[in-house]
Amino acid sequence: MAWNKPLPHPTEISRPFWEGLQAHEVRIQQCDHGHWIFFPRTHCPKCGSRQLAWKAVSGNGRLYTYTVARIPTLPEFTDEMPQLLAVVELDEGVHLNTTLVGTTPEALQVGMPVRPVFDERPGTVTLLRFAPADSDHAPVIRAEGEAGQDAAPAATEPPAAPKRQISVKNLDAMKSLVSDEFSPWSNEFAVTQQVIDEFARLSGDDYWIHTDAEMAKAKSPFGTTIAQGSLVQVLSSQLKIPLDFEVVGFNNMVNYGSDKLRFPTPVPSGCKIRARSRIKSVEQVKSGVQMVMELNIHVVGQDRPSVINELVILYM
Ligand SMILES: [Zn+2]
Repeated sequence: MAWNKPLPHPTEISRPFWEGLQAHEVRIQQCDHGHWIFFPRTHCPKCGSRQLAWKAVSGNGRLYTYTVARIPTLPEFTDEMPQLLAVVELDEGVHLNTTLVGTTPEALQVGMPVRPVFDERPGTVTLLRFAPADSDHAPVIRAEGEAGQDAAPAATEPPAAPKRQISVKNLDAMKSLVSDEFSPWSNEFAVTQQVIDEFARLSGDDYWIHTDAEMAKAKSPFGTTIAQGSLVQVLSSQLKIPLDFEVVGFNNMVNYGSDKLRFPTPVPSGCKIRARSRIKSVEQVKSGVQMVMELNIHVVGQDRPSVINELVILYM
């Protein structure tokens, strides 16, 4: 199965750590005064020294603290419930966020000795997990199917992460899409006077504040014509939001309208707009699963949205 979970993105500063894991080594930074440092940084947080070197360490340590997650924090983690989220203190004294393998929630004890496990399954990066020191878990988790099956498509496919497929029948997974975080931005679309004029002709909303540039310059508080709020709302169809998930497993998807529609700020003629979204709620209703997606449209560069639209979508 393809790895469809979010992955770390090595940066210039953190890359040696990730390269170490690929070589099945835990490498952390040490300053010229002997202080061990993690997460990777440009200077020592204890003494401020910028003379840092990468050193290979055993990776052995102790369980500093843990929590057992029984509800997935993201839909793609439903397959590894319960998830043993942990902070490990290495022998050098630094702390790492990780997950534990080769054990059970009942066996966990703060302070228990742990050792590193290198998880190669993602393919592009190796992840660092930990197992109890006395566990018989293998020190390396290799990709299923190894070379033959997995390597060939990986070489030809683009590196873009595959979309997470969320089955509408898995209500827990659907509910875990709910987030305060917005998606990345969509493409941009220019709301030209021509677009505003065409919409004025179609809709009959040809009030001067939208269509008469000279009058708007003289009398409008905005100093120029502005787009109709309803126009900006329907232009969401021109804005493709790069969602990293896809809802599957339904027979019919119904656009049920909107719980809330607001036009907090105007879109002046000639501005570019873009959109982003987040999932506000998911609930089981009589006829299926109902999702409320908040779609916000902004003038590019503006913090305040021009449209807030809480779309109600029913999956049946
Ligand atoms: Zn230092």
